[in-house]
Amino acid sequence: MAALWEQNIRKVVPYVAGEQPTDTNIIKLNTNENPYGPSPKVQKLADHMDSDIFKKYPDQTAGDLVRAIADYHGFKPEEVFVGVGSDDVLAMCFMTFFNSDKPVLFPDITYSFYPVWAEMLRIDYKTIPLDENFCIRPEDYKEPNGGVIFPNPNAPTAVLMGRDKVEEIISSNKDSIVIVDEAYIDFAEEGSSVIDLTRKYDNLIVVRTFSKSRSLAGLRIGYAVANEKLIKYINDVKYSYNSYTMNTPSIVLGTASIEDDEYFKEKVEAIKKTREWFTEELKNLGFKVLPSSANFVFASPGTKTAEEVFEEAKKRGIYVRFWNKPVIKDFLRITIGLDEEMKKVVDFLKEFC
Ligand SMILES: *Cc1c(COP(=O)(O)O)cnc(C)c1O
Repeated sequence: MAALWEQNIRKVVPYVAGEQPTDTNIIKLNTNENPYGPSPKVQKLADHMDSDIFKKYPDQTAGDLVRAIADYHGFKPEEVFVGVGSDDVLAMCFMTFFNSDKPVLFPDITYSFYPVWAEMLRIDYKTIPLDENFCIRPEDYKEPNGGVIFPNPNAPTAVLMGRDKVEEIISSNKDSIVIVDEAYIDFAEEGSSVIDLTRKYDNLIVVRTFSKSRSLAGLRIGYAVANEKLIKYINDVKYSYNSYTMNTPSIVLGTASIEDDEYFKEKVEAIKKTREWFTEELKNLGFKVLPSSANFVFASPGTKTAEEVFEEAKKRGIYVRFWNKPVIKDFLRITIGLDEEMKKVVDFLKEFC
């Protein structure tokens, strides 16, 4: 018989991230990392980092980084919260803002961490199907709820929702908190972000990450922008849980990344260009490709099944992402890597599909 303590344990089913193979020859297109690496200014600072700075606790407010992010977007530091990757920021937001008896709403096809946090924190939630073109329909988010969250562009579809539609969701949910997860927004058309709408709507939180567009997944930096009051609420929860979340190298190197805007823009443009080329190649091979505003594409092979392509690619050292789930089991999510990597993927597909 199971011990009695078994019934007092919080049992959860964890989120499963894409594999991180140790073999460096692998063409790794499975976790939406940015292949170009961070700014040379980050490298220079890392090279000269004095380990003596590690003897002290970090600045618990991560002040330099918060100010750099606030300046970058034209906000006040009091309107910015930073965390250990946007996963940490999002988890803090779930804890802080989703405490209603009504369900939190999010799409059925979306970032698969959302249901995991909701389950862990025992937050009621309801998933809402996308339309037949894999788009979020704002009219579906007008029922009573305890909060709304969705990525824009959505993951893993890469499909962008226009600003007007995002605003429609925010404005029709004035009694709950709406979180827009803009993990991939830097790869979308300029002017797609709703970060400025945090000034117009007091119920809006925009979450961003350094992991994708800034090529700093390993440093773990994410942030939220919202009005001062909401940021104070998240900080209160953070300081009730773990005060020293951001380590000193993340604060120092993250700040340097923000300061090198030229490099950042150049590499984002390079990825967008490769994405357009790769999308055309896939279409020529008979793939169905959803319009991507991210650093990955969501594509369905014409002849072979997605699973067959996934397995064979893996055998040949090309890692992409595949989910054996309804609605998306015909699709592969392929991160945009370097040009030479994507050419190898196309060569493989030409031969195999
Ligand atoms: C990658 C991703 C995140 C988390 O990124 P961090 O590395 O934790 O900053 C959050 N939301 C979406 C939609 C993502 O794809």
